[in-house]
Amino acid sequence: ELTLDRITHRYGGMAVLQDISLRIPAGEILCIIGPSGCGKSTLLRLLGGLERPDAGQVLQLGDPPQGCLNPLTYVFQDFALLPWRTVAGNISLVLEDHGIRGRAARAIIDDVLGRTRLSGFADAFPRQLSGGMKQRVAIARALAVNPAVLLLDEPLSALDAQTRELLMEDLVALWTRQPFTGVYVTHNLAEAVRLGHRVAVLSRRPGRLREVIGIDTPLADRRPGDAELETLQ
Ligand code: ATP
Ligand code: MG
Repeated sequence: ELTLDRITHRYGGMAVLQDISLRIPAGEILCIIGPSGCGKSTLLRLLGGLERPDAGQVLQLGDPPQGCLNPLTYVFQDFALLPWRTVAGNISLVLEDHGIRGRAARAIIDDVLGRTRLSGFADAFPRQLSGGMKQRVAIARALAVNPAVLLLDEPLSALDAQTRELLMEDLVALWTRQPFTGVYVTHNLAEAVRLGHRVAVLSRRPGRLREVIGIDTPLADRRPGDAELETLQ
């Protein structure tokens, strides 16, 4: 599980995040929504240890999953794939960082490409893929390190509505097939309500935790335009 204990963060003296406490138990997808500039990406960077909070602390508890190479891994809005490397090459790069090469690497790559419906695209270059496929490669690359927690920063924002819908189905399939712990940042309430077990709402400047909404409908039973969604909006 991941715990944020009274986190405050400032840039140049101005508080961006104020007194945020959250507990994300193992197996939960927590969505974070809030207006642009309220500190969502900053919060993810604090969770991932890319920045240190000015006050409070981030704690990761519990044993990492078997074969975990990296406890926390990111998926970004712009996919962040290397254009001169193939799909397999983009994934093997992170595996090489952990000393995994050759047959062991190929087994992991086959597995994560299968889980993201990309079998058969190992030798393709990013420019040959649609936006949705590129983001699935980025997700496959994140899965390759078998993280304890997946951190996703507006992963669908660069995609058109139809592709977003397909990717949401992929993500639901992914995290209903096996327990998954994730923090999913979006400014889109429909996405949050579709993909999260709970939704944390941040207020604008400084970002404070306004409320945390639990969503009872099982992930697999949610459909676009659900009644629950209507009432939340
Ligand atoms: P968006 O929805 O546009 O992605 P966000 O909620 O992710 O926004 P952040 O990127 O976390 O917001 O930024 C929060 C605030 O902190 C913004 O006002 C931003 O300008 C400021 N900020 C972010 N990073 C830095 C930095 N490295 N130095 C100074 N200010 C920063
Ligand atoms: Mg952001």
